[in-house]
Amino acid sequence: MSQLHYRTCHLCETMCGIEIEHDGEQVLAIRGDKNDVLSQGNICPKATGIQDIHTCPDRLRKPLKRVRKNPAEKSHDDEWVEIEWDEAIEYAAGELARIQNQHGMDSIGSYWGRSTAHNVGATLSVFPVQKIMASRNIYTGSTVDQMPHNFAWHHILGHQFLCTVPDINRTDYYLMLGTNPKVSNGAQMSTGANTYKKLNAIRERGGKCVLIDPRRTESVKYMDEHHFIRPHADAMFLLGIIQVIFAKGLAKPGRMAGHINGWQKMESVANEFDLDRIAEVTGIARADIERIAEEFATAKSAVCYGRTGVSMVQFAGLTQWLMYAVNIITGNMDEIGGMMFPKPALDSLDLTNSSWGTYHSRVSGRPEFSGEFPLAILAEEILTPGEGQLRGLVGTCGNMVLSMADGHKSEEALQALEFYVAVDPYLNETTRFADVIIPPCGPLEKGHYDMFYHLYDTINWTKYSPPLFVTEHSKWTDFEIFTDLMGRFAYKRAQNPVRKFFISCAHKLARKFIKPETIIGIGLRFGPYGKGLNPLKKDGLTLAKLKENPHGIFLGDLQYTFPEGLRTVDKKIQLTPFAFVNDLPRLKAYFVDGGMEKEAAESEFDLRIISRLTNRTLGWMHHSYRLIKGKNPCELMINPTDAEARGITAENLVSVTSRTGQIQMPVIITDEMMPGVVCMPHLWGHNRPGTRQRVANANPGVSMNDLTDVTGFDALTNNAIVNGVPVKVESVDEVTSEEATHEDETVEEYVV
Ligand code: SF4
Repeated sequence: MSQLHYRTCHLCETMCGIEIEHDGEQVLAIRGDKNDVLSQGNICPKATGIQDIHTCPDRLRKPLKRVRKNPAEKSHDDEWVEIEWDEAIEYAAGELARIQNQHGMDSIGSYWGRSTAHNVGATLSVFPVQKIMASRNIYTGSTVDQMPHNFAWHHILGHQFLCTVPDINRTDYYLMLGTNPKVSNGAQMSTGANTYKKLNAIRERGGKCVLIDPRRTESVKYMDEHHFIRPHADAMFLLGIIQVIFAKGLAKPGRMAGHINGWQKMESVANEFDLDRIAEVTGIARADIERIAEEFATAKSAVCYGRTGVSMVQFAGLTQWLMYAVNIITGNMDEIGGMMFPKPALDSLDLTNSSWGTYHSRVSGRPEFSGEFPLAILAEEILTPGEGQLRGLVGTCGNMVLSMADGHKSEEALQALEFYVAVDPYLNETTRFADVIIPPCGPLEKGHYDMFYHLYDTINWTKYSPPLFVTEHSKWTDFEIFTDLMGRFAYKRAQNPVRKFFISCAHKLARKFIKPETIIGIGLRFGPYGKGLNPLKKDGLTLAKLKENPHGIFLGDLQYTFPEGLRTVDKKIQLTPFAFVNDLPRLKAYFVDGGMEKEAAESEFDLRIISRLTNRTLGWMHHSYRLIKGKNPCELMINPTDAEARGITAENLVSVTSRTGQIQMPVIITDEMMPGVVCMPHLWGHNRPGTRQRVANANPGVSMNDLTDVTGFDALTNNAIVNGVPVKVESVDEVTSEEATHEDETVEEYVV
């Protein structure tokens, strides 16, 4: 008999409510939950793929240990044998302890991929694991696509996770840069998958939506206007907007008057840039910049927001700073209809660190940010011999080979590791370099609470999802694996019997009594809406109350947070932090003093490549047949004039070459692209030797990160440059219909 289960889709920060019809063992259907307090029945196609992950025969149910053919080195011909949990975790703990004993604290490290934040057990493990390993070699997916935001929040507002959220439900003017809300449904803002309806609502109430992007994306039909912009030039556009707002006397601090430092400095900094030059290098007419600035500053409320298109570029830190500056100087920071801040039921802000430059990396001297190093230096830390060389790695929730810049360099580094334990459900492009793979249970076999993403709420709300299926595997969530691994590791590292005794007791107690639900329950009870220890506070939140409300609990609209909520020392917004002002000469050298022209004259790479999202896939959902079936989206979008100049027709296969690599794919010739810019999806490039993932491998595509450059990152924030990488595109040959579609019979065979 079929039953219904309600939970939050864990795949992205949009946090849609889903209704799962099941028979107690198998999923029968996944639909939007019409009663979900946030998403009200809206979902995107990706949610339906969760059932494929649940049933996928390639998802590991037991740990795998590598048995080397040649003891001296790993090879893709090595054998993988299934082993028991105890043996796997004991082996991993022993090897990590051995390396750290022999080579020092920083000889082991950890990597936490992007989906850590979508997984309560992994999120709750991050800080205990980092503390127990006590190594400076900490890497996360943040420096692939979001570090510039954290960097700006740290310097302007005082904490890396004081996350600004566009008040999309109440704004009158929405200026967006490098974001595609129709497809992403709102990145770094949790709206439910109905963002396009909210964009329509802005226009229906007399407001305006403006998009700045080098591609005329799927979102443009929900906009009043769209402007192409040259990749990397967004900071210049924003300087133009700020300059005009000051020049026309439209700058106003609003209710933050008296709580902002650096007002005059901001005006003088913007005035250093000539508006005609700004128009020339951005590709946006001066009259349009002046008009948008005036419209923005005079709107009843307005918000300027940007996402990956402007955080994975050469001047990403500056762009984020200037975006927030536009909001601040128009009185739209912490204002209704502007940038606002949620008040989560379980406030994780105080559990996290916020720092910059307190120590530096061993090889290239890059500064730490909030206790982590940029992912772009992971390979050099592994491959460069010397004291402190990284030899042992714990990796989870990410596929570095496909997601970080220069995939081939990542492969070389992972191959060179002395020991690598992957906590991961698949034998994929990255984990095939592991010595042992320990697989957490599937997404429906564990509870879910968005520890992290409520920091991006566009309304205040909360929801807990219990496990749908409780299986033998359920006792090995990410949290249980890390708790056991770290308990055993700490025991092996302890030097004296007394310490070993206490660690052994703590390990046993933690394994028995500390579960993610225990921590969530305590956090809710003592959070801002919690019941605390007061039995008379009937409406106070507890975990039990959330379990009684499977569609979530609405906690109110976003409210004012500042100045009390500011984390800066003087409780003021820092409009012109020195870190950003000091980076302006780099921008000037490139866009004003001839850097851009010199680069163009000297380089054979005459086009810029940017990435695009698709609404059916995320990198870690390529194991879902229903999401990746059919035509592979790895096609290069190119403007007709660029295609014609290179003799490329729609029937051609093209090669795309950068400083680091070359890939081939079919083309789409379209005026959706700005001339001079080409575009492809990222996180593809499967079917590499030694992987065990039949669905992904049957429709592999090619990897954009075989083109990106590990030495290319925003010098201020250390974020990888993925958008705007210089490339050349050449016609290779005519493509056959089979190559054009990438369809592969094995996908069908596997599903049947
Ligand atoms: S937008 Fe799609 S992937 Fe993201 S939470 Fe909603 S249904 Fe899931």
